[in-house]
Amino acid sequence: MTRPLVVVGPSGVGKGTLIAMLQKEFPDKFGFSVSHTTRAPRPGEVNGTHYNFVDKATMEKDIASGKFLEHAHVHQNIYGTSFAAVRKVTAQGRICLLDIDVQGAESVKRSNMDAAYVFIAPPSMDELERRLRGRGTETEDAVLKRLENARIEMAKKDVDGFFDAVIVNDDVEKAYEALKDVIKRHVETKGSSGANHILSQYGPVAFGIACAIAIAARVFINGRP
Ligand code: ADP
Ligand code: 5GP
Repeated sequence: MTRPLVVVGPSGVGKGTLIAMLQKEFPDKFGFSVSHTTRAPRPGEVNGTHYNFVDKATMEKDIASGKFLEHAHVHQNIYGTSFAAVRKVTAQGRICLLDIDVQGAESVKRSNMDAAYVFIAPPSMDELERRLRGRGTETEDAVLKRLENARIEMAKKDVDGFFDAVIVNDDVEKAYEALKDVIKRHVETKGSSGANHILSQYGPVAFGIACAIAIAARVFINGRP
């Protein structure tokens, strides 16, 4: 089984854009962990697809009853990843993509879920602000709050060993290629056993050849299979 990929980065940096590109290019390979949030839906956001939109009382009750792998107060709302959201994706044999904030990533690290972590950084804070405003989804208050939080999130990317990779999303195509490379190195390779990896990556014929070579090597070294 492959590891989930936790995608972190300040609001407006392009996490959603990059995740959408992955899902578009590989519709059967990746699945998005649909978070719960108490924030209101933006125009075009679909309940159950982008988020599970819930009221605060319901979210607090579900957190208290242990339904969440992690949750955090972000930009004055509660966001959380339910165990069910992750299970739904992994049960389909897909790589689970989590778009969560730094606090959420810290909680996932404390849990016993083995995951890979990537931080998406903007080329500059000015460009981040341009993207956030250009998206046109936030009130002035929300933009300011998100920029303030962005500075805190940016500090986390430099914490030694926390992230498997930091990708600067300057040119979106280049960032996308870098993300796919991270997935190859930290999700698909590390998450599976050697045998599973050969089987899933190269197919049953290569798997058979690898087994034959392994047996032959054993016979050569030990004199018996
Ligand atoms: P996030 O999910 O991190 O909050 P989004 O994916 O919604 O961010 O991106 C915020 C805005 O920035 C969107 O309008 C998106 O089209 C734009 N965007 C994303 N990546 C780039 C990029 N490399 N260059 C310019 N604009 C970008
Ligand atoms: P937005 O309101 O722009 O969709 O998301 C705001 C922030 O909340 C982003 O940084 C996003 O990564 C984070 N977020 C979204 N879902 C979750 C979640 O389930 N848990 C946590 N901790 N953060 C989340």
